[in-house]
Amino acid sequence: GDDLMLHAQIVSFGQGRRLLVVRDITQVRRLEQVRRDFVANASHELRTPLTVVYGFLETLTRDSTVLPERWRRPFDLMTQQTLRMQRIIDDMLMLAQLEGDGGRGADSDVNVPNLLHLIRSEAIALSGSRRHRIEVDADPGLWLRGNESELRSAFSNLVGNAVQHTPDGSTITIRWRLQDDRPVLDVQDNGEGIAAEHLPRLSERFYRVDASRSRAKGGTGLGLAIVKHALARHEAELRIRSQIGAGSTFSCVFLPAAARPVPASEAVINA
Ligand code: ADP
Repeated sequence: GDDLMLHAQIVSFGQGRRLLVVRDITQVRRLEQVRRDFVANASHELRTPLTVVYGFLETLTRDSTVLPERWRRPFDLMTQQTLRMQRIIDDMLMLAQLEGDGGRGADSDVNVPNLLHLIRSEAIALSGSRRHRIEVDADPGLWLRGNESELRSAFSNLVGNAVQHTPDGSTITIRWRLQDDRPVLDVQDNGEGIAAEHLPRLSERFYRVDASRSRAKGGTGLGLAIVKHALARHEAELRIRSQIGAGSTFSCVFLPAAARPVPASEAVINA
């Protein structure tokens, strides 16, 4: 609308003197909105043509009598890259939605322990022959007030990253419990760790420690940006600790009030 948006800040400049600085950020916000809408619309528009391309590629590669031998590899590569494009577009769309005012908000009591077990099963299925050990240690009575699908994409991105960025056979521990009264999810791995200088930039879009390796593994470079925004919508924050040679821990830290005591009957049913 035509609402005026102001940004106010108190600036101290010695001897107890203070200045109130008020800036008109209406135009800035409007531009941000235009950018978000553009990304969301562009992603949405790109989906349909890509689905068609992917569909035909799949048909051509599935029937082994259609393609001459020398075309097999190029077609496999085209299929792979098309899938990659699809993942990038899906992630861009999700990010634009998370940044905007869309979405349904924190509208339900989310059974986090249940969700974590589900995410574990999916991650194991996806890791295939890489044989990661994934352990879940979750307080069964600790639920959250939140948006289930947003929390799900945040948590599964972290678990997916732990699988993707650690060597075969690594161990991943998912912990969900109260720490100092705050509900905290830790996703810990025993991979090679991340150098300290990268940590502050890790959740920027398309920031990767090793871009070519991330691409080769099918990463979009948007995972942690999605995590950060999904958590921000829950007034929660992402904390990253890592040690070279020892592994990394990604923690989602929620506000104390976000935890819902669960009625005993529900806790038993879902245990
Ligand atoms: P990507 O699609 O590359 O995983 P993300 O935004 O999810 O993009 O992550 C950004 C970068 O952070 C990754 O490219 C990787 O370098 C690093 N990273 C994320 N999780 C881990 C982890 N568990 N161990 C080591 N590095 C990680």
